[in-house]
Parts: sequence; C-alpha cells; structure tokens
Amino acid sequence: MEDARAALRRIFGFDSFRGVQEQVVARVLAGQSTLAVMPTGAGKSLTYQLPAALLPGTCVVISPLIALMHDQLRSARANGIAAAALTSADADWRETVDAFCNGALDLLYVAPERASQPGFRDLLNRGRVALFAVDEAHCVSEWGHDFRPDYRLLRPLMDGFPGAARLALTATADAHTRADILEQLGIPQEGMVVAGFDRPNIRYAIRHRQSVPAQLAQLMEEEPGPGIIYAPTRRKVEELAAQLERQTGREVRPYHAGLPVEVRAENQAAFVASEDMVMVATIAFGMGIDKPDVRFVAHAGIPKSIEAYYQETGRAGRDGDPALAVMFWGAGDFVAARQRVSEVEEARQKGEHKRLAALAALVETPACRRALLLRHFGEEPPPSCGNCDNCLDPPAMVDVTELARKLLSA
Ligand code: ADP
Ligand code: MG
Repeated sequence: MEDARAALRRIFGFDSFRGVQEQVVARVLAGQSTLAVMPTGAGKSLTYQLPAALLPGTCVVISPLIALMHDQLRSARANGIAAAALTSADADWRETVDAFCNGALDLLYVAPERASQPGFRDLLNRGRVALFAVDEAHCVSEWGHDFRPDYRLLRPLMDGFPGAARLALTATADAHTRADILEQLGIPQEGMVVAGFDRPNIRYAIRHRQSVPAQLAQLMEEEPGPGIIYAPTRRKVEELAAQLERQTGREVRPYHAGLPVEVRAENQAAFVASEDMVMVATIAFGMGIDKPDVRFVAHAGIPKSIEAYYQETGRAGRDGDPALAVMFWGAGDFVAARQRVSEVEEARQKGEHKRLAALAALVETPACRRALLLRHFGEEPPPSCGNCDNCLDPPAMVDVTELARKLLSA
C-alpha cells in the first residue's frame, strides 16, 4: 500500500499532517478502531478520507446533515476520491448502489436514520466495507449536546461487519461524553486520540449587553474582515441584519432555516467568497462551512452551552491569523434559558442545568476565559493566556470584605 504521507501529497496536496491526524490515520490503516477528538477545523475529514482512498473497499460515513454530506462530497470528488451519498436529495441511487457493489466507491455517505434500517445492512453485505466513519459522534450520547437516537443503532449495524474498523469523530466531548461514545460505539478505551483544544489566535471577550446593535456596529467598524454574528431567533437575525447594514454601510446578510433554500445557498456562497461580508445567523449556519479567513464571531446572546460556544467561535481564524470571539450577554438570557430547560423532559433536565451552570461560570469568571474553556475539555491550561479580555485587562476586583467592614462600622 502507498505510504500515507505520499498519499497525503498526491491526493490532497498537503505537505504534512496536522497534529494528531497522522496518529489517527495510522491507527485506521492498521484496522484499529479509534475515537478522534479534534477541534473544529483541525481536519477530521481527512482522517477517514485518506484511508478510504488507500484501503480496499468502501468507507461508510455516517453524517447527521445532508448539507454537510454534500459539502464533503464536493471536496472529496475535487480530490479525485470516488464518493457518493444515499439521501433523499440524491437522484443517482441506482448508480451509487452499483458502484458500491462493484467496489468502485471509496466513500459512501449516509444519515444515521437510513444506516439503521435493515435494508442498509443488506446493501452493505453486497459490497465490501473497509471502514465505518461516524462523524459528529457526540450525537450518540445523551450527555452530548445534540443527542440523535438513531446513532444508538449504529453499534448493532457495525457489529455485523467485524472486519471493518470504526472511526468516531467529534470536536466537542467532555470526559463523560467521550466515555459514553466509546461504549455506545464499541471502541476500546485505548483507541481514543485527543488533540489539543487551544486556539491561541482567537481572542475571547465576553461583555454585558447594553445596546446590541450599537455594540455590534462598533465591532464591525473595528474589524473590517468577514464575520459571523449569531442571534437567538429568526426575527432577531433579520432585524439585526437590516439594521447593521444601514448603520455600518457594510454588506450584511441574514441566514436562518426559515429562509428559502435558494436564498440560504446564495447567502452562504456569497459569504464564503467575500472578504468583508458579515453574516447574521441562527446556529443553523456554520456546520461544514469551509472559510478559513473569518475574522470575528459574535454572539448577540448566550449560546446553548460551552461546547456550542467553542464550536461556534471555532469558526473564526482557521487560517491561524488573529481573530475575535465576542459575546454580548444579559442576565435575561439565563432566565430564558432556565425557563426552556424546565420545559424539556425530566430525564434531560439535570444535564441541561449543568451545561447552563458551566456557561454561567465562563460568562462570570474574572479569570482567564481560555483557561476555563480548556479545563472544560480536560486540558490543563497555562495560568494566563494573554489573549482574552480578562488577561489583557483584568477586571477591577471590589474587595467586598473591606466594603462590608466600612458599611458595618459606619
Ligand atoms: P473538521 O471536520 O475537523 O472541522 P475539516 O476536515 O473540515 O475539519 O478540515 C478543515 C480544513 O483543514 C479543510 O479546509 C482541510 O482541507 C484543511 N486541512 C485538513 N488537513 C490538512 C493538512 N494536513 N494540511 C493543511 N490543511 C489541512
Ligand atoms: Mg467535520
């Protein structure tokens, strides 16, 4: 078999692996099941696409979103990898099935809902499965932030193909979720590879909300490059986009799941191609978007969790150049979030409350934001990062004991 490094150059045109990519690829090529925990933008796709191109047989990729699959399809095909998907949006099922059965496919993308159907197992038995890649693997865990019950049915499917290694991939997994992924997908403990989570070029800042439009307009004046602003609702997205465009004279577009598909696609394409556009969006925007030069990510309200915050802010500065992550929050955000938690099914409330408490700690800490983030992901941080609001400009600490003494003695 061709050497992995040579294949990296030939297929992808890259000179070297990044971080733990090499370790993950080596394990997969050796047929060892693996859980790769790597930050967003670290290059997880390559860790199964490269083995898929080298190993005899097909790599079956479980992916939660059709849009995500199609982005991956395009980029894999652009690299000359034979890839196809079986989704409701694909018309060429017949060809795909034939190609799979003839061993002509490197990658076969499928959603968990389809993978878990009995017909899919029958199909797989008609070809050769080299590898299972489970993308966004935290969806298998109730502890993760995007639980998808159908991920639980992947284990029985994969158990039917003992010759195929399993590669689970996620960017966002605390210790609890990781352990759960290993168990739910049947990957041995020693199969876990964790990359560093630090994104040193991102400057984190978290501020009280005064007037969001004014604060965002100011941010946009200071930072002329491409940016993403996350807003909590579709209505807020549209209001903010219009208002900010008027106020700043910059190109600003909205993105949310309520817009027609064509409008979404057009706005997304315009954003990816632009050097100065700002996208105001709900969290429907971002997954699978490959734009390395996003200079800022702003949150106009609190995100859902630390995991979500890390993933969303992680879309800034993938090119390694300086980038900003700014959150504007108000106490009302937590009140509303607690209200929402009280409405979810009881079994999930405890986990959701823990997630909110962790987020509150990040928002309220007077100490290093990065340290808190990294510790959350089980990484031991340096004492001060020098690139977050609290390290650069330590908040004035009121000495409450001194104050109390004065008040009492007055
Ligand atoms: P993830 O799924 O971890 O968020 P992707 O697989 O989408 O990340 O990869 C992010 C970007 O990094 C892509 O543009 C990809 O082409 C690029 N990339 C991946 N591996 C390498 C590498 N070894 N050298 C340079 N660029 C890489
Ligand atoms: Mg990915």
